[in-house]
Amino acid sequence: MLTFLSGGTGTPKLLRGMRVFLGDAEISVVVNTAEDMWISGGHLSPDIDTVMYLFAELLNTDTWWGIADDTFITHDFVTRLGEEEYIRIGDRDRGVMIVRGEMLRKGLTLTEATRILCTRLGVDASVLPMSDTPVTTRVEIPGGTMHFQEYWVKHRGMVEITGVRRVYEEPPEATPAVVSALADSEAVILGPSNPVTSIGPILECGGMREALADAFVIAVSPFIGDAPVSGPAAALMRAWGCDPSSAGTFGLYKDFVDVFIQDVRDPVGVPGAVRCDTLMADRGKSVGLAGEIMRIVEGRG
Ligand code: GDP
Repeated sequence: MLTFLSGGTGTPKLLRGMRVFLGDAEISVVVNTAEDMWISGGHLSPDIDTVMYLFAELLNTDTWWGIADDTFITHDFVTRLGEEEYIRIGDRDRGVMIVRGEMLRKGLTLTEATRILCTRLGVDASVLPMSDTPVTTRVEIPGGTMHFQEYWVKHRGMVEITGVRRVYEEPPEATPAVVSALADSEAVILGPSNPVTSIGPILECGGMREALADAFVIAVSPFIGDAPVSGPAAALMRAWGCDPSSAGTFGLYKDFVDVFIQDVRDPVGVPGAVRCDTLMADRGKSVGLAGEIMRIVEGRG
């Protein structure tokens, strides 16, 4: 079994390629939940949904969020009724949020709710929330803070950020399901997800770094030069006090990473890194990078 640590874009692209080499039942994915929020009574867990929809063959792979060919009738009517829903939620996507919200209100853990949703959607991979207690990424702006989703989706990242903060009532712990997945894996792969808002929250869960120290860990950089392939990772890295580059990313992972992969085009050299084509512009490119990673894993065994 291989275990991946994932956000909602870069690592899911890699998972799409991995499915050529591994059965879904041989894949576990530890997923960031620090972007979760309640919206209109439903519970949005954007990274879990992207991963779950990928394995359920439902994902909209043009945007890497939401369900392909979804409709937006409810969202449009909610907006017409004067309620602000700054995230455009599809009707079927909202169905998942409603069902999960009900499960959580009845006292199920996020791990249990995700397992039930995966079973009902025919997902064979283990999709594992990083933690069962809420934690939220907020960005610091002059004079206050805002939820990461508000910064990125509502304001499209056009707000000056001065810091990044994780907010929780109790410090998040890696779940027992996560810890046992890591212990049972031939390798753990940190896909090219945002180091601050996707991988960072997972690494901060109690027990995670210890579990990774015992594992064979491969990490893929989401940066080429001083720019991420997509998204707000550069501004977030700077706000986090890190260089927005593969070198800065490596600095965050160096205590436990065994193989660091960066793009063949990346002008920022990380000593000892393996160079691959990491730009997963289409399914074939995802399969190519997944194949390189499989060779590294198999070469070790
Ligand atoms: P989020 O939850 O939507 O923010 O998604 P992730 O954190 O999983 O992924 C966002 C990161 O993926 C960004 O920092 C991008 O630079 C990176 N990314 C997206 N596509 C690619 C790709 O094809 N190759 C690489 N190397 N990184 C990518």
